[in-house]
Amino acid sequence: MDVTTNIKPGNALDVARIRQDFPLLSRKMNGKPIVFLDSAASSQKPEKVIDAISEYYRAQHANVHRGVYQLSQDATTAFEAVREKVRDFINAPASEEVIFVRGVTEGINLVASSFGRKFLREGDEVLITAMEHHSNIVPWQMICEEKGASLKVAPINEAGELIMEEFERLLSDRTRLVAATHVSNTLGTINPIREMVQMAHAKGIPVLVDGAQAAPHMKVDVQELDADFYTFSGHKVFGPTGIGVLYGRAKWLNAMPPYHGGGEMIKTVTFEKTTYAGLPHKFEAGTPDIAGVIGLGAAIDYVLEIGQDAITQYENQLLAYATERLKEVEGIRFIGTARNKASVASFLVEGIHPYDLGAILDKMGIAVRTGHHCTQPLMDWYGIPGTVRASLAFYNTTEDIDRLVEGVKKAVAMLR
Ligand code: PLP
Repeated sequence: MDVTTNIKPGNALDVARIRQDFPLLSRKMNGKPIVFLDSAASSQKPEKVIDAISEYYRAQHANVHRGVYQLSQDATTAFEAVREKVRDFINAPASEEVIFVRGVTEGINLVASSFGRKFLREGDEVLITAMEHHSNIVPWQMICEEKGASLKVAPINEAGELIMEEFERLLSDRTRLVAATHVSNTLGTINPIREMVQMAHAKGIPVLVDGAQAAPHMKVDVQELDADFYTFSGHKVFGPTGIGVLYGRAKWLNAMPPYHGGGEMIKTVTFEKTTYAGLPHKFEAGTPDIAGVIGLGAAIDYVLEIGQDAITQYENQLLAYATERLKEVEGIRFIGTARNKASVASFLVEGIHPYDLGAILDKMGIAVRTGHHCTQPLMDWYGIPGTVRASLAFYNTTEDIDRLVEGVKKAVAMLR
């Protein structure tokens, strides 16, 4: 591919038009038109999502699953329709296997706590990878400590790819669960989840997949992956904050105890004993984030309208363009050079602290993330304090990349 030309001819996405759907992208930051390159932290929202939430509060709001009156029933219907939409979005076998949570962090904590309480014993092991986000490390550490189990870590190579032989070797008789990210938020590495699941299942071990950085960029099919748990956050797929999804195989969810106790998750309550509701309600105690669910539904509609294959293809081209252009920066070192990558360019420039670079880019209206990206053990492994991370979404353009590269060059000249 010729990455020196602008990605327009033959591109399936009309990005100029798409950008008009995102009100925030037309604002300025520090007096300059914003270049938003931090979508891995949280993506911007299209008008359709903002409007759906506003419309819900204006005209449809009532608590769900409770009222006999029409308004509540309509709210319940709209809420449950999104569950079905999510089921279809990730190709889950049944909508009762779709649990609404606050985001990936809560999804993983739910499984760690509930699965861990039921299935982890002293001497057992949980296997993660060296590239996990803190939210796929700390919940496992907490439950392992409580249960006397231990956390094992599958290593990576210098490019930031999982070493599959090591991963397979670490699947032992004591491994009770594998928890791995689909796409690394710091490196952009796409893990071979299907193969990892096959290896784990060959030993009867279930697998949880952290889909935080995959769901915004590619079609996810939990049946094709054969994942036992898959979780993603609404705010990274162009939906609202505070809402996310945990898919779990019914076989496991039915065997796991509830995570939170309260209203909605019960069948009967007496002071002596409570019996629990079936799926998915067993895991959805209390009033849910109804507006968040409605907004998530609008976000999924929006992504599907644009087309997931077109998104993946466009972002791959844009990432290749960004990588080529960034090579012009003298002293640049890429962190994360896996063969299979998605939408993240993480780098350092020799002799310059990432934070200083980020602060100067900010003055130029360029929003990138600097630091450890909630992957401190990964930074320790590379022996670096952090990186500058430019993360892409389908609303980014080659002009954004050009401004980033020119900005980095200028900042480097100032700081050297
Ligand atoms: N896992 C990965 C790979 C992430 O990138 C993130 C957020 O950046 C999370 C988990 C946590 O997601 P949330 O903060 O939406 O719960």
